[in-house]
Amino acid sequence: MDKHYTTLNEFYRKKFGEKVIKISLDAGLTCPNKDGKKGYGGCIFCSDTPFIGDKNDDLLTQVENIKALVASKLKTKFIIYLEAGTNTYASIDRLKTIYEPLLAINGVVGLNIGTRCDCLEDDVIEYLKYLSKKTYLTVELGLQTCHDKTLKLLNRNHTQAEFTSAVKRLKEANIDTVVHIINGLPGETYQMMIETAKYVNSLGVSGIKIHMLYIEKDSKLYDYYQKSPFTILTKKEYISITARQLQELNKSIVIHRIISNPNIKKLYKPEWLVGKFSLLNEIDNYLIDHSIYQGEYYETMNKSNE
Ligand code: SF4
Repeated sequence: MDKHYTTLNEFYRKKFGEKVIKISLDAGLTCPNKDGKKGYGGCIFCSDTPFIGDKNDDLLTQVENIKALVASKLKTKFIIYLEAGTNTYASIDRLKTIYEPLLAINGVVGLNIGTRCDCLEDDVIEYLKYLSKKTYLTVELGLQTCHDKTLKLLNRNHTQAEFTSAVKRLKEANIDTVVHIINGLPGETYQMMIETAKYVNSLGVSGIKIHMLYIEKDSKLYDYYQKSPFTILTKKEYISITARQLQELNKSIVIHRIISNPNIKKLYKPEWLVGKFSLLNEIDNYLIDHSIYQGEYYETMNKSNE
């Protein structure tokens, strides 16, 4: 079935000529929003758990363990995703000792670096620019929302303006950027979520991850919800908002993720956020039934401005 949006698989197949597997790892770096440099306690939704890998193993062992798990696909290409923590929050020398041995592993064709918009000093961007000439390098930045009021509530400790400036500097260095957003944040209206999609589109980034907010047991967000219960999106609302956001996003923006994939054992709410593949099917069916395509509003606007 042809998807109504640009998928990551499609993008990788075009770029690398075959399927590419992403390996999610934990480099053991902390976060300035936890250690006091920017804030304490972290973002209220932060779970900071990589999907696979083991914090106790060193990075190369993590890679080899995961490659063994997919032994039948040893000829496959891999992209390493440094997911947990803030993966540019260290000296350049330390970053070199993390990134470069990973890139030397057989089959690794790219590196995705998850970080914060306020951890991209000039020397870091210079180094990333150098690396991006050797491999397919992507920087993943958490935005979550373009609204400063919500960013404050989430304890993000950065503003929309800081985010805009970081993406601009990455673009100037020709580094692909993927932005994460979350739908269903406390206090956000339908219109605010659409504005976030429009804002991401205006940045001219290369990719987006769209998440549904979920509450994990024993999380800060769980405590917040007990004190100040907020409305959690229904599945129907999430799908309709996400479909509307897709219409705003230029087709060149790769949709890396369109639904969250929580750890079921820890999930408190929403109960409907289980069964990734059936949710993906429901999103696809909604797009088909309503003839909705990624980029159609963006294209209409561009034509009317010509
Ligand atoms: S910036 Fe990322 S790692 Fe740091 S607290 Fe927030 S979500 Fe967690």
